[in-house]
Amino acid sequence: MIDLHTHTTASDGVLTPIELIKLARKQGLKAISITDHDTVKGIIKTELIEVVPGVEISTTDKREEVHILGYYIDTKNKQLLEKLEYLKKKRLTRADEMLKKLRSKGITLKKEEIEYKESIGRPNIARALITKGHAKTIKEAFNKYLGTKGTAYVEKKKLGYEQAIKTIKQAGGIPFLAHPGEIKTNNIKEYLDRAVKKGVKGIEVIHPSNNKEMRELLKNYCKKNKLLISGGSDYHGKGRKNKLAKNIPYSYLEKIKELKKEQQE
Ligand code: AMP
Ligand code: ZN
Ligand code: FE
Ligand code: FE
Repeated sequence: MIDLHTHTTASDGVLTPIELIKLARKQGLKAISITDHDTVKGIIKTELIEVVPGVEISTTDKREEVHILGYYIDTKNKQLLEKLEYLKKKRLTRADEMLKKLRSKGITLKKEEIEYKESIGRPNIARALITKGHAKTIKEAFNKYLGTKGTAYVEKKKLGYEQAIKTIKQAGGIPFLAHPGEIKTNNIKEYLDRAVKKGVKGIEVIHPSNNKEMRELLKNYCKKNKLLISGGSDYHGKGRKNKLAKNIPYSYLEKIKELKKEQQE
């Protein structure tokens, strides 16, 4: 079994890459993909388990935020690293703006009090708010301050939808549409067609936000459109309800690897 969607301390996960890998091994997983938000710095090589280099890029096409997963990216690719460096900087200035907003609400939180390594996200700020006693749970921190309706919310800078897919492809990666179940639309077909048109090669069919009905729909869509299938837990560590995946077959990864191999030939 495998898990192709996980986060580490390189972005907004709680476990370090090696802690995550050890946990995955303990749970009997054969392979995981480390797919941190907008960074590849959490990807490590290890003998313990098969690690698929991945990334989850937040994109927009001015209509909505769309997450794109990239598998088997070359983590040294110059264009990719340039884009990710740009996003990292933008995340830092956004965090500053959010701290400023919090301050105007009487909440003092210093950057040094936030635990982050590469890609700072709202969950990192949420945890610091909890530590300092301004919220009891991540959920409360989002509801009050960090969520889109929260008082300290600042939108983040995202790559363009097509630009992100192009960047992943340039880096030798295989782009997937992440968690379609998270999108609020009454025309899922149009949403998927758009992703295919933009160049994704597969869809994340198994994800906690895709319900059974959605998974069936996505599986059929993939079959009909000759798309690859992936699945993952979107694991972030303690404080979130998602656990590492248990039921995602290795055969999904085999198909992804076949395409990667074809691309290299
Ligand atoms: P960011 O990339 O900084 O916008 O943060 C996105 C992260 O925040 C993702 O990992 C989401 O799963 C998480 N997130 C978004 N909304 C919420 C929420 N209401 N409660 C908990 N986590 C959330
Ligand atoms: Zn996250
Ligand atoms: Fe996501
Ligand atoms: Fe994720």
